[in-house]
Amino acid sequence: MNRKGIIIVVSGFSGAGKGTLMKELIKRYDSYALSVSATTRSPRPGEVDGREYFFVSNEEFEKLISENGLIEHAGYVDHYYGTPRKFVEDKLSQGIDVILEIEIQGALQIKEQYPDAVLLFVMPPSAAELKQRLVGRGTETEEVINQRLSRAKEESVGIEKYDYIVINDDLDECVEKVNQIIDAAHHSPSRNLDFIETIRKQLNEL
Ligand code: ADP
Ligand code: 5GP
Repeated sequence: MNRKGIIIVVSGFSGAGKGTLMKELIKRYDSYALSVSATTRSPRPGEVDGREYFFVSNEEFEKLISENGLIEHAGYVDHYYGTPRKFVEDKLSQGIDVILEIEIQGALQIKEQYPDAVLLFVMPPSAAELKQRLVGRGTETEEVINQRLSRAKEESVGIEKYDYIVINDDLDECVEKVNQIIDAAHHSPSRNLDFIETIRKQLNEL
């Protein structure tokens, strides 16, 4: 079976643990490529330009949009975020799975352009735990935390549009679950039409 690269979109409320989960997934399985987004927000302590994000000005972001350099983009709590086109297209053409860790508006833009994409939503075990993780991360002011929690309320309305949800309670278990879901997606008939066609031809030639 010839494995074709697929886009895996990972969304979830701020603080649910998407970043932590994706870093661990990439560490354990080297078959995935993680897309690095462009953003107009400032780096958090420890974040490195080109690793967590490409940190750009508003002008630079608008230039990326006008050059068709992003496959999707969206506004999130006062800032812009977008996915650079070239990395995604290069990896897919090499048969490599690409993970996009993006919010819901971007996820739906991706599903329209790439109907084959797998949309996965990372849930916290409870709302109280979500708040605790956001506060515990200690990277945002109380005001921004409240904005992110109210955004979570809005985003919770769109979860049914996703293909799968995973609960990030035990990190190890969640990483394995995400890997299993992606692996299962590769086994759908719709993602293996060439192989099915080959076997049909062989059967006709027997
Ligand atoms: P997101 O990328 O979804 O905003 P982060 O990956 O930054 O979230 O995680 C938010 C906080 O929760 C971080 O401090 C992280 O260490 C913690 N965290 C992530 N996953 C878990 C987990 N399974 N159990 C407990 N804490 C977690
Ligand atoms: P954060 O500021 O916490 O890193 O990210 C805020 C939100 O923006 C998260 O929900 C994250 O998934 C989302 N995000 C990050 N990169 C992109 C992107 O390229 N496009 C879109 N649409 N959302 C993104």
